[in-house]
Amino acid sequence: MSTDTVAVLIEHRDGAVTPPSLEALTLARSLGTPIALWLGDAPAADAVARLGEYGASEVRVVGIGDDARLPAKAAAAIAAATEDAPVLVVISTFVTKEIATRLAVLNGAGVVVDAAGASRVDGRIETFQTVFAATWNVRTRIDAERAIVGVRPNTTQASPAENPGDATVTQVEVALPQTRERLVSVEPVEQGEGVPLAEAPVVVSGGRGTNGDYTLIEEFAAVLGGAVGASRDATDEGWISHEHMVGQTGTTVTPALYVACGISGAVHHRGGMQASGTIVAINMDPDAPIFEISDFGVVGSLFDVIPQAIETIKAHRGE
Ligand SMILES: Cc1cc2nc3c(=O)[nH]c(=O)nc-3n(C[C@H](O)[C@H](O)[C@H](O)COP(=O)(O)OP(=O)(O)OC[C@H]3O[C@@H](n4cnc5c(N)ncnc54)[C@H](O)[C@@H]3O)c2cc1C
Repeated sequence: MSTDTVAVLIEHRDGAVTPPSLEALTLARSLGTPIALWLGDAPAADAVARLGEYGASEVRVVGIGDDARLPAKAAAAIAAATEDAPVLVVISTFVTKEIATRLAVLNGAGVVVDAAGASRVDGRIETFQTVFAATWNVRTRIDAERAIVGVRPNTTQASPAENPGDATVTQVEVALPQTRERLVSVEPVEQGEGVPLAEAPVVVSGGRGTNGDYTLIEEFAAVLGGAVGASRDATDEGWISHEHMVGQTGTTVTPALYVACGISGAVHHRGGMQASGTIVAINMDPDAPIFEISDFGVVGSLFDVIPQAIETIKAHRGE
């Protein structure tokens, strides 16, 4: 087993490599020699070129079709295709966390999910992350021979490799186990426009303080190139769909910039956004708990503050 091969499970959408995959490859370069693992139909030349640009020396294609959607089969396929790679990096999602833990059972790896980064210390992989609603910073060393690291989107700045080469494409055949689950049909859920909430580098969220009017939140998010989030109270009111909910029972986000508008900052909400890079809060109540974790706070009505912020940003850009 080569000691410094780091496999990266590539997330792709409609054949295109997603931004978090480029972040994961960038992180993998700091841990060893990255190879890209691609589950699904063979990638197009531009996707292979992109993976090479970000440091993948090889793109290993495992053509298991829709079975890639079944974590038990995906884990078995990855175990077979990465026997020579002691480290695997995946992007932390509900699905990859299940794959990672099943894979760890198969190959004896130590596994950490939701990491904000990783490094190699004395030959071992160390990860860092925030836990318990971002109230603790934790470093974890994986002492097993194999390591699986799930990294959150937006925690590594993606950058192309300094000396990129052409990635070779290898097709890998794997035998899949018989499982008691089987896919009956696959129907893509209608996605809203723009960047998915969990991956967005900027999230602008609105809560009960919007009083149900998301026009300004959407406009602000569009100006900042971000996604729209919401508190649970807002989604429970039916003001915006549940897929926008941020928090303990919603999506966990770690954008570079999180803007909370008319959100009090209840612990359940904080649990899903507190690890964001910079937190900005707009709230009428100077004692709102959200200000305790904010880097910048504006006391005022979002209906007054957001239009001024949009105007100032546009003026700054000369628009
Ligand atoms: C088991 C459990 C799980 C939960 N999971 C989640 C979760 O995942 N995500 C989540 O968000 N919540 C979750 N909750 C709910 C959570 O506890 C809070 O009730 C919720 O987050 C409050 O939403 P809010 O901040 O929008 O509303 P509120 O707490 O009512 O706060 C509204 C805020 O808006 C401000 N405001 C009002 N008008 C304006 C204005 N014009 N301009 C600016 N500010 C204004 C007010 O000062 C106030 O601070 C959960 C609760 C439970 C029990």
